[in-house]
Amino acid sequence: MAVSDHVDFPTFMEGVKKRNPGQPEFVQAVQEVAMDIFDFIEDKEAYHTAQILRRIAEPDRVVSFRVCWEDDNHNVRVQRGFRIQNNNAIGPYKGGIRFHPSVTESVLKFLAFEQTFKNSLTGLPMGGGKGGANFNPKGKSDGEVMRFCQSFMTELYRHIGPDTDVPAGDIGVGGREIGYMFGQYKRITNRWEGVLTGKGIEYGGSQMRPEATGYGAVYFMENMLKHRNDAIAGKTAVISGSGNVATHAAEQITKQGGKVLTLSDSGGFIHDPDGIDQEKIDWVKHHKTHTRGRISEYADHFTGASYHEGARPWSVPCDLALPCATQNELNETEAKELVANGVMAVSEGANMPTTLEGVHVFHDAKIMYGPGKAANAGGVAVSGLEMSQNAERISWNHARLGEMLTDLMEGIHGKCVEYGDQGDGYVDYVKGANIAGFKKVADAML
Ligand code: GLU
Repeated sequence: MAVSDHVDFPTFMEGVKKRNPGQPEFVQAVQEVAMDIFDFIEDKEAYHTAQILRRIAEPDRVVSFRVCWEDDNHNVRVQRGFRIQNNNAIGPYKGGIRFHPSVTESVLKFLAFEQTFKNSLTGLPMGGGKGGANFNPKGKSDGEVMRFCQSFMTELYRHIGPDTDVPAGDIGVGGREIGYMFGQYKRITNRWEGVLTGKGIEYGGSQMRPEATGYGAVYFMENMLKHRNDAIAGKTAVISGSGNVATHAAEQITKQGGKVLTLSDSGGFIHDPDGIDQEKIDWVKHHKTHTRGRISEYADHFTGASYHEGARPWSVPCDLALPCATQNELNETEAKELVANGVMAVSEGANMPTTLEGVHVFHDAKIMYGPGKAANAGGVAVSGLEMSQNAERISWNHARLGEMLTDLMEGIHGKCVEYGDQGDGYVDYVKGANIAGFKKVADAML
């Protein structure tokens, strides 16, 4: 008789915990997905016989390497770098690189796992991966960041390739870092290939890539509202973060006639009751990327705005909430506060920003809740289009890519509704995203 993975949910999770000691983020991510998948595969014996769930909760490969670099005082510094190649059933491994002190193997494994389902949802042929290091670019000189990136790529280059694994940016890795890494890849291999996405426009980057994650999260919000015959115009929005995702989400909310009330960084948040309009968003973009400043300085610059040190923005009453900073940045208490203050919809620009308990609060209150793996998939989707353009040696214009992004987000929303419609008018977008994302990967593995 064939061996089967047909065990109950607690036994399955017990196994995941035992095999991944000291990796709470990874266990949390597997649990969130497995809860939904369990019911779906209950009577589908082929999945059990092929041990799909057991296999999917185990990364294909965890690459770990030492990164040595020299700081400006000529001290040799040592960091650990990783690339998690989670699953390549439907396409080359694909996913960002994160440079942040909070990076651990557990965090990257959770992100690579989530990425697999997210990439599947886009409908494009991309597997899931993620990489990074516990390096903090904040406060480092350009020269230090360059030397770190070059050293990181000196190890990473042997594990990636345009048909193998295609990294991109994530927290702490933007255009500057991608440029340094791409240059080093080219220098080592003497090959110009589309091995990274999020590149500069001058050297093979795609139009719309910088805007894609933030705009996409707002398009997802727009689709959720449209499904209930509503729209963003006239609504207030609370946004966390002030990087690439948050500022572009703010821009798109504003374009659609909404009013953005907050932005934040790890130091605190700013509240601007007059609304953070395009001119103010442009100031934040410039301030964060060129002077690498803090969001607190916004309040010194624009009258009427206040800065709340050490706090997160979820206590500000709003119609729409877009967590665009980092994982577990919105907990149960904060979710309850948002609900009590009348929030209608939540669309996640970040990966897993809401804790599991927070998600339950939104579901119990029947709030429209778009999880990151669906709502922020616009970024990686346009990365997929950057890969296509590089492979074809062409570049499409901004308008065409804008249309493609809108269609992709509508398609992702549609898949979530297909598998997440509870029949009473309420859509469980988490369930929908998990099942739709899983099904394609699992069928490919079968
Ligand atoms: N880091 C982004 C994400 O979490 C983008 C990844 C990519 O473009 O490959 O989806």
